[in-house]
Amino acid sequence: MAYIYAILMASVGPTLTQNSTTPTDSLIVRLMSPKPPKAVLFDLDDTLFDHRRSARGAVEAIRRIEPALASASDEEVNQANREILEEIHLRVLSGEIDVDQAREERMFRLLERFGGSATQADAVRLAFHYRQAYQGIREVVPGAHALLAELRHRNYRLAVVTNNMTAEQEEKMRTLRLSSLVDELVVSEAIGVSKPDAKIFRVALEWLGVRPEQTVMVGDSWSSDIVGAVGVGIPAVWYNPLRHEVPDTTLPLAGQIHALEPTTEIADTIQQALEP
Ligand SMILES: [Mg+2]
Repeated sequence: MAYIYAILMASVGPTLTQNSTTPTDSLIVRLMSPKPPKAVLFDLDDTLFDHRRSARGAVEAIRRIEPALASASDEEVNQANREILEEIHLRVLSGEIDVDQAREERMFRLLERFGGSATQADAVRLAFHYRQAYQGIREVVPGAHALLAELRHRNYRLAVVTNNMTAEQEEKMRTLRLSSLVDELVVSEAIGVSKPDAKIFRVALEWLGVRPEQTVMVGDSWSSDIVGAVGVGIPAVWYNPLRHEVPDTTLPLAGQIHALEPTTEIADTIQQALEP
């Protein structure tokens, strides 16, 4: 009996003991359940990680030391920062400029927008303060840890699929205590393409060993997460905390959420995207 048990343990792998009360319970469930594996892919920035909150804190920090930014309203500077960041981030993803150049250029552009001017040294100094404040404020979106734990408990394989630099996202995942809650981290820099390119979603599916129709994508970006996932046949749940209008009602959306909690309710919505 012990011999058979050892073979079975080896065949079901290291995930066996993660969710169930005892290895034997889990083993019986797995052996009696012929269901194919299922998975949830999550975007990171502004879905699991509260990038918006960090960016606001960082803007507040540089407004305190830069008169040109202090004279504009908080919302105006935040809006400008978001727009400039989005535009420059695309140039980083395409490899046109590196992250340090991007951070400095953002400060030049931000000051320019509000009638200020910066020397190279000013831009470096502001970028440093922005970065320091941004790193110091980082938090997950409320409910993120509990939601990932609940989905894992429901036997979903989990991955984060994100457009950014690999080192940056790995460090962020560790700092936010997200690394141990997901099975895979798929970063655009490592794959060579960014969402919505089909390749990055296909890599995530391959690494998790699942098919598109067994998978749900959850993300805040309509153009990257939702359009990208639907394009490869992955049902998509739009995380839409600011309650924007659905940009394209002809696109089959599997669900919409405005927060990551209450945990059970959100996990149910994600589950229903696969089992309507
Ligand atoms: Mg996002």
